[in-house]
Parts: sequence; C-alpha cells; structure tokens
Amino acid sequence: MFIIDSHIHLYLNDFKKDRELLIEKAKRKNIKQFLLPNIDLKTIDDLILLCKQYPKTCYPMIGLHPCSVKKNYSLVLSQLMKKIKLSNFIAIGEIGIDLYWDKTFIEEQKAAFKIQLDWAKKWKLPIVIHCRNSFNEIYEILKEEADEDLKGVFHCFGGTLEQAKKIIELNFYLGIGGVLTFKNSGLEEVIKHIPIENIIIETDAPYLAPSPYRGKRNLPEYLIIIAQKLCDIKGISMNMLTHQLYKNTKSLFFK
Ligand SMILES: [Zn+2]
Repeated sequence: MFIIDSHIHLYLNDFKKDRELLIEKAKRKNIKQFLLPNIDLKTIDDLILLCKQYPKTCYPMIGLHPCSVKKNYSLVLSQLMKKIKLSNFIAIGEIGIDLYWDKTFIEEQKAAFKIQLDWAKKWKLPIVIHCRNSFNEIYEILKEEADEDLKGVFHCFGGTLEQAKKIIELNFYLGIGGVLTFKNSGLEEVIKHIPIENIIIETDAPYLAPSPYRGKRNLPEYLIIIAQKLCDIKGISMNMLTHQLYKNTKSLFFK
C-alpha cells in the first residue's frame, strides 16, 4: 500500500534543481505516485515530458486553469486540445472558476469551464476542479451539465460543511491539502463530519505548504503531514487511512 499525491505541479520550474531528489525523498516516505494537473499552454509540454521521464510515477492531466482564462480562451482551448493525443491523460484539470483575485473574466471562465466539462464527458475522464470564491457558480454549472458518469474532485477544498455535503451528493470527492493544518481555517471541524470514503489528499506543491512550513515552498514529502493530520482528526491509524485513500484515488482516476 502506498500514498498517491492527487494534485501536484511537479513540472514547474520551482522544482527544476532538485526534482529527482524530492521524488526520491517522497518515495522513501511511501508517497509513490503523483497526479499532475495542468495550468495553461506554457506548462503542458513540460508536464507531458515529466510523465514520460517518470512512467508509473507521474501521471498527466490536461486543462486550462481558471486564472489563465482570458478573452482569447477559445483559441487557447483549441490549441490545448491538439495536445490530447500526446499522452494518456487521466483527467481534465485543473479547471473551474476563481473569483478571488479578479472577476474581469467571469463569463469567459464559466464558458471555458463548460467546454472542458464537455471534454471530460467526451473522453470519459474525471475532472479536477479549482474553486475559489466561486462555489455557487461552479455548483450551478455542475448541476446543469453533469451526467451520471461525470466524476471528479474539488481540489484544495476549504469550504463549509454544507458545501462539502453538496459535493458528496454530486458523487464528487473532496481534495484535502495543507489548509487542513492551518489554524483557524475551520476545515478540521468540517472534516470531522465527512466520511473518509469521500476524501482524497494532495499537496498542490509548490503552493500551499502545510504548517509548520506555511508560506514556504511546498514539497512532495509534506503529503505525510496532511495524512497524519487526517489520522489525528479521524482517530485512525496511518495504515487504515492510506488504505482507504488509495482505494478512493484509484477509483476516481484509474478505472
Ligand atoms: Zn493546483
């Protein structure tokens, strides 16, 4: 049994100098597979290349991050789609809506999200959702567009218990990361009420390092900190936890 990081940007330049070493260190802690969400046209080639260099360790996703959605989104999406044959993508991600920094392109973000939902349906792939200050917008679209086969995860979940329940009703997973370890995030209280069967874990490295590394570069091996925190909250052993998380992650991405 081993642990899978369900969301990590290992292909970014932040890891250029010590990537191999960091993957080795993570593997020694039983973190053996990494699922790589894309950001935009500038990152996809590095992502594909890394997955070729590390077969059975790194797995590629394809998608346009909502913060990269601008006026020209439809051109960008059609160029991205040309890459679909270059690799065995396991998911469409990360996609969604982000209204935290900037609401200028809200309509474009919604449209791009819908187009990529269609990709997921067409290729029968799960989706990895980036949702920031946009739960209602995303939920509304999913309610309208999702069919029974559509599966996915709300990555970096940090919402309320009510939102968590809505996600589970949609048959989606909660992607839990470093936010769980932040004091006053309120997430610990929410997760107490969520069955472990509905959770997968992630680092989102190099972003969102867990405590006590908050604000620093996040590393693949820190996934253990998140797993340990979940064990503490749930009062279960690491063995029990990783067994269930493995099952969840496999059933979402590798069916
Ligand atoms: Zn991410």
